[in-house]
Amino acid sequence: MPINCSPSRPLALDDVERWDAETDVLIVGFGIAGACAAIEARNTGARVDVFEVAAAAGGSAALSGGEFYLGGSGGTPAQRAAGFDDATEDFFKYLMMAGGPGADEARVRCYADNAVAHFHWLVEQGIPFKGTYLPGKWLEPLTDDTLIWSGSEAAWPFAQQAKPAPRGHAAQLPGWGAGKLIMEKLIARALDLGATAHFNTRVLALVADRHDAVHGIVARIDGELRTVRARKGVILCAGGFICNDDMVRTYAPQALGCPNPTTGGNDDGSGIRMGISVGAAAIHMDQFFATRPFFPPESLVKGIFINEAGQRFINEDAYHGRVTHYMLRQPNGRAWLLVDEEIFARPVTNPNIDIAATGDTWLEVEHELGLPKGELTHTVESYNRHAAAGADPIWHKAKAFLRPLAKAPFAALSFCAQDYPATFFTLGGLWTSTDGQVLTPAGEAIPGLFAAGRTACGLPRWGEGYSSGMSLGDSSFFGRQAGRRAALTG
Ligand SMILES: Cc1cc2nc3c(=O)[nH]c(=O)nc-3n(C[C@H](O)[C@H](O)[C@H](O)COP(=O)(O)OP(=O)(O)OC[C@H]3O[C@@H](n4cnc5c(N)ncnc54)[C@H](O)[C@@H]3O)c2cc1C
Repeated sequence: MPINCSPSRPLALDDVERWDAETDVLIVGFGIAGACAAIEARNTGARVDVFEVAAAAGGSAALSGGEFYLGGSGGTPAQRAAGFDDATEDFFKYLMMAGGPGADEARVRCYADNAVAHFHWLVEQGIPFKGTYLPGKWLEPLTDDTLIWSGSEAAWPFAQQAKPAPRGHAAQLPGWGAGKLIMEKLIARALDLGATAHFNTRVLALVADRHDAVHGIVARIDGELRTVRARKGVILCAGGFICNDDMVRTYAPQALGCPNPTTGGNDDGSGIRMGISVGAAAIHMDQFFATRPFFPPESLVKGIFINEAGQRFINEDAYHGRVTHYMLRQPNGRAWLLVDEEIFARPVTNPNIDIAATGDTWLEVEHELGLPKGELTHTVESYNRHAAAGADPIWHKAKAFLRPLAKAPFAALSFCAQDYPATFFTLGGLWTSTDGQVLTPAGEAIPGLFAAGRTACGLPRWGEGYSSGMSLGDSSFFGRQAGRRAALTG
């Protein structure tokens, strides 16, 4: 049996003495991208085998909030019922802004045009959505409601360029963590349709010919190395690289300041490395989602963040992930949220947050934090003066969140790196076409190889622009695209 291969080194086709098994479409990883790819490939009539290193399907998606970012086409049923007429062009513009400098226009167009149809597809797979709207600022609904504002839609600079609408759609499950429910439904559907799952099976390497066309994989099955041929294609759906310290250090060192990974432990970048091993381009590898949630409660959005120079650095009504990226960039990773008595609270996700300073005057708080004399007090004085007039000329926070921080006592909640670790997952991955073909740096498709989910660089590719629901939305939608395309390969 071959041993001279790894995720970074394909097994040469010439070295395969015999195939131990064969299928049409071979999927690596049974998370959300893998499940959706399997469903569509089966619907297209292909034989499908899914190889999963864990003892069960689900991946990070099963640990997630179960929230999808969807809109456009005049709105999903939940958006319409709540009175939001979400035009495709506004959805498109928001997604382009959210994609940042490297936004992929073709991918954004494809998603914006088809997201409402995708919502109906998710419902057809058995995922329940109650269809109700929960106003306010939430990380995920704590109720079983569907629709929330889950990004920076209503905040500067997004709201000025694309008409805002709430687009986070959570599956119907009271409390956080509906990811388990969505994965139960998608896994059951894939298996009911006849996809074959192989658990406790780590895919170790691709099998490729001398032109880098992919013909199959090498996997460890029941402790033995086996070769499996894929007649139509291999789809890499093995998640990102959050669990691989070397890759994080190499590609996304800024995320090293976020020592609190959010996934189940198998997102070790093996899918991305397998793609690179046959000549694929990996793009936006430095980008990641990160968060130190500071709401709910929503009252805290009325506070102001300052850095160690005593200066504001963001409009606090932006998405918590965007605010966190700005925090990570502050000198020495130090940031505090200033609040007065009227809005004082502890974030629901961090009830033991460190209260770094308190005082009956802002001067006392400034002194206790050890900041340069006069800087914090100047920042608060300027903010309060403009807030009293309903304006924020510096950072453009929306009027609804503006009020002077004037009621003593005052406090500074610590969002410094050492006090409040951020959680994160990676956004960079293999460059793919909108139908999931893995591309070389020259933009040529690698025959026989597809990718989706966080193994690919998808719709979300800029940490500062991420909105909750974009990863599950992207992974499920483009997982389907890849499954269909692979199954239709001749
Ligand atoms: C706590 C938490 C909350 C989140 N909430 C949301 C949310 O509400 N909305 C949202 O959009 N995103 C959310 N995310 C992010 C989202 O869950 C992931 O980005 C998404 O699941 C990625 O899907 P995937 O299919 O690429 O990877 P995964 O779902 O992680 O699936 C990858 C699978 O591949 C398997 N695998 C890896 N390597 C191999 C190998 N070599 N051989 C065989 N199998 C392998 C893994 O075991 C895993 O099962 C959240 C994440 C977490 C952890």
